[in-house]
Amino acid sequence: MQNFSLSEERRVALCRCDSYDPSLLKELLSAQWRQIGLTEDFFRDKKVVLKPNLVRKMDASLAGTTHPAVAVAVAELCREWGAADVLMVESPGGPYTEGALRAAYRICGMEAASEGGAFRLNYDTAWQSVDYPDGVASKSFHILTPILEADVVVNLCKLKSHGLTMMTGAVKNYFGTIPGTEKFEMHARFPDIRDFSEQLVDLCAYHAKARPMLNVMDAVVGMEGNGPTNGKARKIGALLSSQNPFALDDVASRLIGLERKVIHLEQGRERGYIGTPTVIGEAPESLRVEDFLPPDSAKKNTITWLSEFWGGRLMRFFEPRPAINKKKCVGCGECVRSCPAHTITMNEKKRRPVIEPSACIKCFCCQELCPKDAVKIKQNFLIKLVK
Ligand code: SF4
Ligand code: SF4
Repeated sequence: MQNFSLSEERRVALCRCDSYDPSLLKELLSAQWRQIGLTEDFFRDKKVVLKPNLVRKMDASLAGTTHPAVAVAVAELCREWGAADVLMVESPGGPYTEGALRAAYRICGMEAASEGGAFRLNYDTAWQSVDYPDGVASKSFHILTPILEADVVVNLCKLKSHGLTMMTGAVKNYFGTIPGTEKFEMHARFPDIRDFSEQLVDLCAYHAKARPMLNVMDAVVGMEGNGPTNGKARKIGALLSSQNPFALDDVASRLIGLERKVIHLEQGRERGYIGTPTVIGEAPESLRVEDFLPPDSAKKNTITWLSEFWGGRLMRFFEPRPAINKKKCVGCGECVRSCPAHTITMNEKKRRPVIEPSACIKCFCCQELCPKDAVKIKQNFLIKLVK
């Protein structure tokens, strides 16, 4: 079995890809996997789990989720390279039930994509505790059982901006190996972005050590602005593969102008997980999207930089915060259910949610899971004044 070490494996394959044509994707991915040193032995007779990004029930054309054509191409290649089984496993945001999984697979296009027989869909909602004594922020996790039973995990991540972590790619996608609403509890447990990011690094490092992994990034069309779900689809035109998720994300961050700006990647760098990636194929500069929009929550100016310089308390006062757009809101209550700090209540008379700002931990789960893009990130009024 070809495994790797996060502190040694640096190869990242990057190529131009402007289409979701399955045969083109297969051709490019097959070449990339060989470029990073994989052979058929990596998949031969193995139980392979595909871990997509299905953060929320949304059509693939909105670019918030892994494109089904990428899943089909990867699954078919795994089988051609000798895999015994290919199973898609994901824990989207919200409850982790068979019904919720069925809806997510159907709306994200994975149900239809699986009908060709390239991969099966998981409906087993079991999970188990695992220990990770090397963890800095977390020394144990609850992980979906089908992932623990896999011989190989192929992480099918999507390149997007992210309101909380600035960017989501390979590392952040492993957060979806934690069952359902427990992800909200993790936000509540780690309200500080640095602690939350540190546990993301722990979780990803745990997976890298537990079993062989391959990370494939769908950056053909990504998401800019208020990602990971309410931003805009943005053509990036790239496909990436690497065994090292930190090195892959480091290269991906250069495509969208977020290099050295993502906290969990900087923490991974400090732990020696990135080094200097060896990029095989296209140079990142040739695929860079110069005007890629970061999330609103990342917009900073003189006041925020100064308050950050002076310390956390002042910074928290100036931080952007969520607000409900009452015209767009339909009163579905998803934000109430997803708030880890339980700081959103439903005004039953008006059927509109109300946020108590003092308890808000700025995790932006409400924005991520609102199906109507009705949660906006607002700047402090003082900051607006100096703009
Ligand atoms: S999730 Fe969005 S649409 Fe639903 S109640 Fe909250 S703000 Fe309104
Ligand atoms: S109101 Fe939104 S941003 Fe604030 S804690 Fe709740 S889910 Fe997180």
